[in-house]
Amino acid sequence: MRRHPRAPRAGHREARSGILILGGGFAGATVARRLGRVGATLVSDENALLFTPMLPEVASGSIEPRHVVIPLRQTCPHVDLVLGEVTAINLGRRIVTVRNEVGELHYRYEQLVIALGAVPRTLPIPGLAEYGVGFKSFYDAVYLRDHVLRELELADNELTPERTAAHLGFVFVGAGYAGVEALAELHDLVRDALRHYPRLRDVPQRWVLVEAQDRILPAIPSRLGEYASELLARRGIEIHTGTRLDAVHADRVELAGGRQIATHTLVWSAGVAPHPLVARLDLPTDDRGHIRVDVTLRVEGHDNVWALGDIARVTNEATPGRTDPPTSQHAIRQARRLAGNLRATLEGRPLQPYRYRALGQVATLGRYRGIAEVLGLRVSGMLGWLITRTYHLYAMPLLTRRIRVLSDWTLSLFFRRDVVSYGGSEAAPALGAEPPTGMDDTATSR
Ligand SMILES: Cc1cc2nc3c(=O)[nH]c(=O)nc-3n(C[C@H](O)[C@H](O)[C@H](O)COP(=O)(O)OP(=O)(O)OC[C@H]3O[C@@H](n4cnc5c(N)ncnc54)[C@H](O)[C@@H]3O)c2cc1C
Repeated sequence: MRRHPRAPRAGHREARSGILILGGGFAGATVARRLGRVGATLVSDENALLFTPMLPEVASGSIEPRHVVIPLRQTCPHVDLVLGEVTAINLGRRIVTVRNEVGELHYRYEQLVIALGAVPRTLPIPGLAEYGVGFKSFYDAVYLRDHVLRELELADNELTPERTAAHLGFVFVGAGYAGVEALAELHDLVRDALRHYPRLRDVPQRWVLVEAQDRILPAIPSRLGEYASELLARRGIEIHTGTRLDAVHADRVELAGGRQIATHTLVWSAGVAPHPLVARLDLPTDDRGHIRVDVTLRVEGHDNVWALGDIARVTNEATPGRTDPPTSQHAIRQARRLAGNLRATLEGRPLQPYRYRALGQVATLGRYRGIAEVLGLRVSGMLGWLITRTYHLYAMPLLTRRIRVLSDWTLSLFFRRDVVSYGGSEAAPALGAEPPTGMDDTATSR
């Protein structure tokens, strides 16, 4: 039954223990969990944490979608969870406004933790907002799987080679982890699915990876990046590095230099930008809009405001001269330090600096292929794939979820990939940084 939003009702509430955490992703949920019985109020627009490292496998169907979302009420049992959208922060009055179907709630805090993450970073490329699809949210992954399977169905019915080419053309822009892993997984899905489409078996497909920098996976050691490039090229994937996307149309994209590719699928994963709410706050930011924090993770110049994860620019004592990259690995470590410093603040103890040296980096390149750099050791192929999977499983917060994912993986060794659609919305989730709806400019001030 459809629920109708009730008329807005004003309400003032106190954050539990005076601590208010905004955002229930890797950063916010880990701070909440680490605070344990100290307790806190956690505001999130979803009641679960999305385990993004496994999102590409949701798109390809190797993992059940609900197994990569971790219920916040289960993983943070001592937290007071408020499901709603943060629409305003009044730093001077120490009040955060949250909107949900109940109405508008105002939360008073003593200590504020901002962990709202990032949104896809888009560029003013003609047609991108209209025809591009992101790869960041749960809905993106579900939509993309359904879309790709639908393109196969349509290609199977198409009458002209030109129109078939657009159904079987898949273009990914941005060759960071998310873009490369999503492409590799979806490529595997289509290869497996074609078994059921005898008419399409000999029809050419086009898989294209476009990257503005001069190599793919720029964040990992070049030898592993080269391995990834060679592997993808051997599978017939075209890689265009040092190349920009110029325009997107309903049935083709244009790359710099006038190259045209027939497609109905443009996946945009060319970086992220801090949550747009930051732009409305009077907080110190870097040139890309991330909140600047000191080495204890407190916002510069603000004694009771903290920030971490993808929304913040975090300096790390273990890596002088470099700020942390936007990864869950770093967000979790920052959260552990921040929770420790929050406890220290409440108990009047000195704060400790954040210091973390990453153990390594891992990525999968479809089934049975992966790359890993762990403690300086570089591994690729089947072993790289196993290390990547083991690492992701180890990083999952809830034991019951780990068991479910492990059972999905085990079953996928014995059964062929399922090619049924998840059956979500036919409209693509909106791409780009939209400010939260109904944001109140006047209330969002110091
Ligand atoms: C496809 C993909 C694959 C990735 N793979 C890896 C990987 O393999 N390894 C790795 O280390 N990192 C990976 N990352 C990066 C990783 O997901 C991020 O660095 C990490 O999620 C950052 O954590 P965060 O808590 O800062 O932000 P998020 O996890 O994005 O959390 C932000 C939270 O805030 C909530 N929120 C946002 N706006 C509002 C609002 N107005 N009101 C209330 N709540 C709000 C969101 O719903 C979300 O729960 C991947 C990312 C993607 C997209």
